[in-house]
Amino acid sequence: MTHPSAPTDIRQVEQVLPGRPTQDGAGVKLLRVYSYSPELNLDPFLMLDEFATDEASDYIGGFPDHPHRGFETVTYMLDGRMLHQDHMGNRGDLGPGDVQWMTAGRGVIHSEMPQQTEGRMHGFQLWINLPSGEKMCPPAYRDIPSPTMPVVDLLDGSGTVKVIAGTYSNGLDPIAGPLQGMTTAPLMLDVHMGAHGQFLEPLASGHTAFVYVYEGEAMVGDERVGARHLAVLGSGACVQVNSLESDTRFLVLAAAPIGEPVVQYGPFVMNTRAEIERAVQDYQSGKF
Ligand code: FE
Repeated sequence: MTHPSAPTDIRQVEQVLPGRPTQDGAGVKLLRVYSYSPELNLDPFLMLDEFATDEASDYIGGFPDHPHRGFETVTYMLDGRMLHQDHMGNRGDLGPGDVQWMTAGRGVIHSEMPQQTEGRMHGFQLWINLPSGEKMCPPAYRDIPSPTMPVVDLLDGSGTVKVIAGTYSNGLDPIAGPLQGMTTAPLMLDVHMGAHGQFLEPLASGHTAFVYVYEGEAMVGDERVGARHLAVLGSGACVQVNSLESDTRFLVLAAAPIGEPVVQYGPFVMNTRAEIERAVQDYQSGKF
């Protein structure tokens, strides 16, 4: 589809996917927005979950000890508190607006447990794949407190952009987020807009990109996208989102595809079956 009248080369929506209610961890109710399959591969992204509830029974079980190998997890809290603890003694207390970027690498065993027995819990967990050469790297953490992330006014004054990873162009006055320097060069923005606002941002050519609307409703390119829907973007130079409701909120995610085979077995994501078998063995024999 071409748009000869468009002022810029807007990335159009290829697919709109509704989040699917599911449970994970110890009975935590969440919305699985995306998960990798051979039919739907948003390389290098592997998964996006949203958890949003006022009911303690939906989240109180948390995510007790479980392993990860071969990729990165990004937890972004909007409301509520979550405590992360791993088998090496690392702790991270995540409050509203905070981000934890965990490179699981060769292996992490951790728990993610709510630090409240009532009130709202709202946030996201994103999984991003690692290239083969980094899958067995030592685990690493980046804990990003909310106040250290830039929040920039949109150019038309209709809202704000929180810059979590990568660099927001901000017209011609780029604003770098705290998370930089990864091989997949992820861009992660949280955009809040009033009605009739416009967000227009160049994206790296060839990078996989999507918009997840989690509140309100928006036009993403020429496509109407409601709350709790993921819009997968096709090729082009820019992402354009026009808000249709007074409180429209969405994540913009983009990253360089890795282009390697993906073999996933639950919390292990490697390139071959043999590497998955090794991961299971290493975990079961306490080698993480
Ligand atoms: Fe985990």
